[in-house]
Amino acid sequence: MRFPFALSAKIAGHIIKHKVRKTPKFAMVLQLEPLHTCNLTCTGCGRIREYSTNLKDMVPLEKCLQAAMDCDAPMVSICGGEPLIYPKIEELVAGLLEQKRIIYICTNGMFMRKKMRDYLAAIYDPPHPSHESQLAQLLAENLISDKEAEAIRHADAAARAKVVIRPSQWMYWNVHVDGLEFTHDLIVEREGVFKECVAAIKMAKILGFQTATNTTVYKETDVQELDDMFAFLSSLNVDGHTISPGYEYDAAKKDMVKRLGKQPEDFFLTRKMTRQKFAKIQEWGERFTIFGTVPYQEFLAGKRELTCTAWAIPTFNVNGWKAPCYLMTDGHYDGYQEMLAKVQWEKYGVVDGVARDSRCENCMVHCGYDPSGALGTNYQRGDNWKNLKYNFGAKPKPYPANPELTKRAFNGVTIGKGHLAEANAAINSPRAAMNGAQAAFSRKEEAQHHEAHVGSHCGTGDTSERDELLAKIAEAKKAE
Ligand code: SF4
Ligand code: SF4
Repeated sequence: MRFPFALSAKIAGHIIKHKVRKTPKFAMVLQLEPLHTCNLTCTGCGRIREYSTNLKDMVPLEKCLQAAMDCDAPMVSICGGEPLIYPKIEELVAGLLEQKRIIYICTNGMFMRKKMRDYLAAIYDPPHPSHESQLAQLLAENLISDKEAEAIRHADAAARAKVVIRPSQWMYWNVHVDGLEFTHDLIVEREGVFKECVAAIKMAKILGFQTATNTTVYKETDVQELDDMFAFLSSLNVDGHTISPGYEYDAAKKDMVKRLGKQPEDFFLTRKMTRQKFAKIQEWGERFTIFGTVPYQEFLAGKRELTCTAWAIPTFNVNGWKAPCYLMTDGHYDGYQEMLAKVQWEKYGVVDGVARDSRCENCMVHCGYDPSGALGTNYQRGDNWKNLKYNFGAKPKPYPANPELTKRAFNGVTIGKGHLAEANAAINSPRAAMNGAQAAFSRKEEAQHHEAHVGSHCGTGDTSERDELLAKIAEAKKAE
């Protein structure tokens, strides 16, 4: 089976229940943002332009759990910000599991190993042979140090009593990966992040956690690189992947037009371009465990239209229920039902290629359109069968790990080609000066003067910033 039976059955049961009751609008996935603080400063993060990243501005645990109850979505995606910074993350996961939700912890991966060491310290029991053999394997693969192993073995009473995040078939670590090492580290503006994500995924698999990845595609994303990335992640036994086109809303677009004096089509991922980038999505769906409905994949590949169902993936954060969607904010509401009732949903989305709101014009994002494929919006004969076949069909076999693939994956700082060195070289070289690299990188530096950034896995912002960076990579590769 492509997806665990219990999870598919839970989601199917939720849809059937609401169809029988004829509920006009209901939630499928709650995007829960308990905070907007992050340890990274990725290029083009959108949330910081909108929200405070002060640690004081957090959603209290009880309110987070109440939000899940209020919208009653079967799936909760805990995002942010970096959710592993949330001081009550363990209690939040435990509380949502108690509510029998399917949980995705959307993380940049940097604190995952620490959280898993906490788990090991809480469960370590010397006579239990599997605990020692797990430690031995983690040590052999350099996923923990000798000192960390000793700390686990000699955990004190407080560490043993701590609420921890445990492996569960109802929970996924959902790691943000936007490309192979060079690209990913460049986008997140820190060398070593890709390597850490890979280490965290390996450790999670050894400990029996489920893992997934989420990837945003930009105008300059190299499709062949995505193919390699999926193959590499599959060789690590990652359980599934979400992939979505990046999207920028109008304010950013206007800003770019003013700042660079160009036309939006010159640097934004338009619908037409998205369809070109996603031409292979269904082939990927056959080769890799891509999460997403078949109608959504067909929509991305340009084979059909869908209507946005943003109300099915509501976002709750420190300001309340964000409307109309994860990306755009026209208001916040105190309750999910209040939001459903007050928002004029018919003002948003694109219908038969015509944007009802100009800001929706190029949007084809997962959080607006994937539920449409599950809910039967724009239903076409055979859709239910296609979805059933896809979900309950055989899971694609993991790619065999091979040294060539691993070499292609670690194409950045690991082989001495870190982006910081490359960025400096690009800024200082006469060729770079001619082609505008200095301007591109200095704009990136300017952006860092914002307090912090919140981006792709946690909410897209000005995707053009990332496109500029990815264009630099393409230039650097051509110049090699
Ligand atoms: S199309 Fe839907 S998801 Fe996309 S920006 Fe508009 S309202 Fe949001
Ligand atoms: S995209 Fe934003 S929230 Fe996500 S890791 Fe980067 S800076 Fe943090």
